Order: sequence, then C-alpha cells, then structure tokens
Amino acid sequence: MEPTQTTIAAVREVGADTVAVDLETPDGFDAQPGQFLKLSTTIDGEHVSRFYTLSSPEVGETIEITIGIDPEGELGPWIESAEGESVTVEGPYGSAYYENEDDSLILAGGPGVGPAVGIGERALADGNEVTIVYCDDEPVHEDRLSALKDEGATVIVTDELADHVASYYEGQQVFVYGFQEFVTEALDALEETRGDPDDAKVENFG
Ligand SMILES: Cc1cc2nc3c(=O)[nH]c(=O)nc-3n(C[C@H](O)[C@H](O)[C@H](O)COP(=O)(O)OP(=O)(O)OC[C@H]3O[C@@H](n4cnc5c(N)ncnc54)[C@H](O)[C@@H]3O)c2cc1C
Repeated sequence: MEPTQTTIAAVREVGADTVAVDLETPDGFDAQPGQFLKLSTTIDGEHVSRFYTLSSPEVGETIEITIGIDPEGELGPWIESAEGESVTVEGPYGSAYYENEDDSLILAGGPGVGPAVGIGERALADGNEVTIVYCDDEPVHEDRLSALKDEGATVIVTDELADHVASYYEGQQVFVYGFQEFVTEALDALEETRGDPDDAKVENFG
C-alpha cells in the first residue's frame, strides 16, 4: 500500500512502558500477523518514521501495533498521547509472518510479544497449535497471554530462553521477534539445539 493517512483510534497501556495502538484500517489494506508497517509523522517540525509489527490477529476496522516506549526515543513518547492524531502508514512489509502453520514456536523478547500474541490468537482461531516463549523484565500483554493459555496455547514467560528452546522445536515452525540482542540469543540457542536455524522466521527490531 502506498503511504496513506489514517487516524490513531486508541492508545492503551498494556504493561510497563508499553502501549497497544489501534490504527483505523485504511481502505484496501490487508496483512498477516507478524508483518510490519512503516509509520510516519511530524514531531516538532521534523519528519519521523519507524517500523512496527502487527499485534492484532486479523485486519478488522482497526489494526493494532504494540510499542515499547523508550523515554529517550523520538516516536515512542509522542505516540503515548497521540490518540486522535493522524499518521501515515505504509506496508505491510516483511516475510516473517504467520502462514497458517499447524504448529508454531514463537520466541519473543520485549515488544516482540506483540506479534507473539497476534499470531497466537490467529493460530488458535485456525485450530492450530502454538507455543510462546517470552522474555522480558516486566512482562506485558498479560491478559492476552493468560487468555491464550486458557484456550490451549503453551505460554512460557522466562529469562531462561535456551532451556525452553531446547525442549520445543521438533516439527514446529519457529518465529523470532525482538531487538538485536534477543534475536542473537535466540538464534544461538536454536543453533545449539538443532544446528541450523535457517528455516526460522526472524524479524529483528534493530
Ligand atoms: C522490522 C522492524 C519491526 C519493528 N517492530 C517493532 C514493534 O512491533 N514494537 C516496537 O516497540 N518496536 C519495533 N521496532 C523498533 C521501532 O521501529 C523503533 O526503533 C523503536 O520504537 C524506537 O523508536 P523511537 O523513535 O521511540 O526511539 P529512537 O528515537 O529511535 O531512539 C532509540 C534509542 O536511541 C537513542 N538515540 C536516539 N537518537 C540518538 C542520538 N542522536 N544519539 C544518541 N542516542 C540516540 C535514544 O536515546 C533511545 O534510547 C521495529 C523495528 C523494525 C526494524
């Protein structure tokens, strides 16, 4: 989709320094959970663009992204109070997204929990199996993680990523979402366990 103006319909706190942002879905927009958008706006006269991954299970009247707020950042602190504002979106982009896999293992660090819950909800709705291993000092989206657990997903919140990667890999499509440090840790753990993480779907937040 070409750059398109849309409205920030809602901004909700979903845990420490993290918000879920609902954007009105532009006409004709479609995407799969795990794909990402480019979001642009003007802050103090300066054009700012950042990428954010979908955290909603499907495209409805709104689409959701989940943003970890760095208080020193440019776009994050702005978006916290941007309900009702206009932004430009482009996309979707990326190849690390859910494609109706029947058994998924999602490794999520920090705001990587956004695509984890989006894919998890969609996978369960499709009758598929899903395991989420989520690492964060202060876990967010706890309501949605707990609902996923109640509905049959395996949800592990841990700081021992490697132990859980070792236990869950065979026959599963692996997804990895998070910032560089987490992605490196996850790929190292996968390599140790299975020797070859090349078939994992990986999105590095930078
Ligand atoms: C494919 C992709 C998907 C992504 N998906 C998500 C997602 O779903 N959720 C999410 O939260 N993030 C995601 N990100 C990261 C996101 O795009 C932003 O990088 C992040 O939100 C920080 O943006 P910001 O404008 O708030 O901070 P920035 O302004 O980019 O700052 C980040 C840090 O850099 C420091 N910094 C900035 N400018 C300077 C400077 N001039 N000198 C020194 N230090 C500086 C700041 O102090 C701050 O600590 C994704 C990134 C990519 C590439």
